Amino acid sequence: MKGGKEKMQGRCMRCKEQKDMKDVEMTQTTRGGFMAKGKCVDCNTGVCKIMSKTDAEEAVKSGTAKKAY
Ligand SMILES: [Zn+2]
Repeated sequence: MKGGKEKMQGRCMRCKEQKDMKDVEMTQTTRGGFMAKGKCVDCNTGVCKIMSKTDAEEAVKSGTAKKAY
């Protein structure tokens, strides 16, 4: 479902499960891929998520992630 501010989720290594991410920044890898970098809302551990170009642009446009590339 689209619309509104969607929470991004990534796998937290400390919680060992999918967690909502906060302070999400969209970055671009050296190979041209996109990666969302944020923090686990529960334990503040850095959480990364590989994104497709389409999903990355969508997340930036909707305000879910801050553009950092
Ligand atoms: Zn966590």
